[in-house]
Amino acid sequence: MNQAVSVKKPEEILKEFFGYSDFRGNQKQIIHSVLTKKDTIVLMPTGGGKSVCYQVPAMVFEGLTLVISPLISLMKDQVDALNANGISAAFLNSSQSQSEQRFISSQIQSGKIKLLYIAPERLYRGDYPLIDFLKTVNLSLVAIDEAHCVSQWGHDFRPEYLKIGELRKLFPQIPFVALTATADKLTRKDIADKLGLKTPQWFISSFDRSNITYRVTAKRDAMGKLLEFLDFHKKDSGVIYCLSRKNVEETASELQARGLSALPYHAGLPREEREKNQELFIKDEIKIMVATIAFGMGIDKSNVRFVVHMNMPQNIEGYYQETGRAGRDGLPSDALLFYSGQDAVTLGRMLEQGENQEFTHVMQEKLEKMKSFCQTKLCRRKFLLNYFGENHAGDCGNCDICFQKGNRHDMTIPSQMLLSTIARLGESFGIGYVILVLRGSKSAKVQEAHQSLSVYGIGKDRPESFWKDLGDKLIQEDYLAEAGNQFPTLKLTEFAWQKLKAKEKILLPMGESLSEVSSKPSTH
Ligand code: ADP
Ligand code: ZN
Repeated sequence: MNQAVSVKKPEEILKEFFGYSDFRGNQKQIIHSVLTKKDTIVLMPTGGGKSVCYQVPAMVFEGLTLVISPLISLMKDQVDALNANGISAAFLNSSQSQSEQRFISSQIQSGKIKLLYIAPERLYRGDYPLIDFLKTVNLSLVAIDEAHCVSQWGHDFRPEYLKIGELRKLFPQIPFVALTATADKLTRKDIADKLGLKTPQWFISSFDRSNITYRVTAKRDAMGKLLEFLDFHKKDSGVIYCLSRKNVEETASELQARGLSALPYHAGLPREEREKNQELFIKDEIKIMVATIAFGMGIDKSNVRFVVHMNMPQNIEGYYQETGRAGRDGLPSDALLFYSGQDAVTLGRMLEQGENQEFTHVMQEKLEKMKSFCQTKLCRRKFLLNYFGENHAGDCGNCDICFQKGNRHDMTIPSQMLLSTIARLGESFGIGYVILVLRGSKSAKVQEAHQSLSVYGIGKDRPESFWKDLGDKLIQEDYLAEAGNQFPTLKLTEFAWQKLKAKEKILLPMGESLSEVSSKPSTH
């Protein structure tokens, strides 16, 4: 049996190999749990310092630590970084030649390698599955990174992860440590079950990323708003997530055309180009990465100052993980999401195509939660943390909702005008046309069709921009919903009808343009 025979203490290893003088958060307790050979589950936000939790034990234990990670593309970087710190690590994957793999295997057998990185499929696949090889070496610890991938309730299920349960049975004597930055309650339970962990010790860190400012804004004129936002983040490094490859290409081109330092990243690009773009971003040679969610998993770039979502993500786990890539260095950073009801509808449709009913149902619920997050009138951070089962005392003072507090204005009269115009128009027009009627457009088409309406021209005292802004606010505050694909029409929500019937005041956070919101005092 392996024993912790190293004479070095964890603190000494941390200092000698990683250059840190103290453990952070609950790293120390986690490492103690692993060193006493308990199965351990670590939930820690991105940037919290999960790697140390198995890398330090790897240096204490006598034998090999196997690290299972889904991210083949990152293994080389991780291994290079360890080697640079004087820790002998290697990875095995299909990109290597036979002789290269044989060489690494012999190094492992002679105990020269402390950490071996593999993707889960490598365990059972190939001419010489690794599982047989592992039986011949002195294995001390198995670390499972991105452990939420084992759960189909997570947002990134990878069936190969289920095989790890078999590995657990094969090596009953050694500890397994599972780590993830993202898991709701259902997924958490699943991690322990599916990996077959034995009465695991749980370590759940606070998920609060207090240096990140959360903002959600209506998607209308997203590009205009984005440019304003980027102007505020000049010289900063950031990621802009889009839903489709096509959106990625278009957005990246548009930004480039405006002279911004942006490149695209998505799975449809040739591998060399993808890797090159990623590298340029990591080395700060370009500032903005426009990407699908294929980008970013595990990327260790500490100075990402902003993360933008051009579309609503499918669930809060994904959103939190993606926004979590901002501000790993602890400095103030921005997360901005463009919300439209239409995106929520599109995502819902995508889910309907799923075959597994139970799964689809869970995903639909997650989508609903994501929608609620976008529409909430509560502190966004409170909402997020609550989703992960955590309580945040008081409001955070660092999200758009908190900024708007006390900044609500009585917009009852203009809101009634706008809402009733939409209703009179049979809820079958978009905001542009509604405003034409409201402001009494002299266009023949409008006059002919709608001059007789009582609402025609009632809003002519206010400029078009005012009404557009008001429309956005009413969407954001759930009075209006957008429907239809190409030409979205506006409909009153149940909530709006209730408010109108009850003659309740409509208080809205008006008068803050995006630039005003962006320049919150604490950051810059
Ligand atoms: P995670 O995998 O949880 O996202 P990492 O393991 O990549 O996080 O660590 C995030 C950053 O924090 C890295 O730059 C890492 O070197 C640093 N870090 C980890 N532990 C400590 C510590 N005890 N003291 C200082 N920095 C640390
Ligand atoms: Zn808040």
